[in-house]
Amino acid sequence: MADESGGVRAQVANARAEDVGRGVARVSAAVLASLGLQEGQPIEIIGKRHTTALAIALGQEDEGLSIIRLDGLQRVNAGVGSGDHVEIRKAEVRPATRVVLAPAQKNLRLQGSGEALRRTFYRRPLVSGDVISTSVPSRFARDQVPEELRQMFSLPAYGLQEIRLVVVSTQPARGIVQVTAETEVELRPLYEEPKEVRRADVTYDDIGGLGTTVDQVREMVELPLRHPELFQRLGIDPPKGVLLYGPPGTGKTLLARAVANETEAQFFHIAGPEIMGSQYGESEQRLRQIFSEAQRNAPAIIFIDEIDSIAPKREEVRGEVERRIVAQLLTLMDGLEPRQNIVVIGATNRRDAIDEALRRPGRFDREIIIGVPDEPGRREVLTIHTRGMPLGDNVDLDEIARTTYGFVGADLSALAREAAMDALRRVLPQINLKDGIPPEILETLQVCREDFLNALKR
Ligand code: ADP
Repeated sequence: MADESGGVRAQVANARAEDVGRGVARVSAAVLASLGLQEGQPIEIIGKRHTTALAIALGQEDEGLSIIRLDGLQRVNAGVGSGDHVEIRKAEVRPATRVVLAPAQKNLRLQGSGEALRRTFYRRPLVSGDVISTSVPSRFARDQVPEELRQMFSLPAYGLQEIRLVVVSTQPARGIVQVTAETEVELRPLYEEPKEVRRADVTYDDIGGLGTTVDQVREMVELPLRHPELFQRLGIDPPKGVLLYGPPGTGKTLLARAVANETEAQFFHIAGPEIMGSQYGESEQRLRQIFSEAQRNAPAIIFIDEIDSIAPKREEVRGEVERRIVAQLLTLMDGLEPRQNIVVIGATNRRDAIDEALRRPGRFDREIIIGVPDEPGRREVLTIHTRGMPLGDNVDLDEIARTTYGFVGADLSALAREAAMDALRRVLPQINLKDGIPPEILETLQVCREDFLNALKR
């Protein structure tokens, strides 16, 4: 099966939830065999970019498929999306003498010991420029990994939250390196641009409970942005505008940002109420600016949050300002060329509050409903928001999902955060904050069932 370069091809599929963030990639037993690999050994994954992972076997339900299961960060690291093909090779790995990490987010300041991170990423193969996560494997996932990786999967978490880090540099500088017991790991406190920037603040793995909605958005937004040639070939215009309807906190913004990241499109965010300028003509000018910047930086997604506040139904329109803004938005949308690779996504919680003129063909002519999650959906969202948390054995996410009827994603995220804060408060008396939190304490932190119950009462 291997070609002359020694590689095999496989189609990219999404990781299973329990594998997300662990740096493992599932491939078929046939792929492992043709590369002469055992489970737990590193592979090189080549898409538009190169990245690496530890190979483990696909589950029984997937066996025989020519797929490789990658999580959102790995897809960004390899420069591919689900459905694309990558080449897989046996990795040439050298031990890292030094690895420099920094937060992958611009506004996050981190303090912590490189020591703890060395344990978190022990055995992990890395490539300079990769974005990696400190997520903790669920108990379920720990039972599922091959003996080879058991040790790595039982390593302590780094703090209470999942943190995304960018590999700023490695020694040796190029190629795949592996973190060993001797590797010196340095954590820089602030974001640093690696030589090659890979934005991965949000991926599809971070969205829970939306089921096939994500596929709908992918089809309407990702497909035209990534493969405009498909639409040209068929002689149809790709959609310019998509409306997302749903209550606040259900993940509309999250979804739009994930699509932008996974398609490597620039993301422009317009907060409806904020764009309403006070000076005459100011709001229209800002809209024009954003549209022209998006056109210069295509492929791009322009996200207009609370679009009902800038484009309310005409009979509800009170002021002259709103009327002018709607007119400006319509002109800008009509002026977008189908081949320009720009999609405008509008979000609102009021389905009928929007000017009908905006919903005509060629404008916002697609609609997607984002609902309040049901019980399995809440379970998924909870899994996502506890990904970085060392959970006590008595925590039962099914139970929490059952008892949080009516909670939307934002509520569940707040619940998990509150529970973690409670866990932190328990150890605070042992800590002198001036000296920073000692890694021994950080590593014994656990979020327990009581922490969730307390958080629920508030
Ligand atoms: P909306 O745009 O619908 O008001 P957001 O996307 O801004 O909601 O959600 C706010 C936050 O709530 C997100 O950043 C995320 O932490 C959490 N959240 C909301 N929906 C989901 C979801 N479906 N899955 C995971 N997290 C979610």
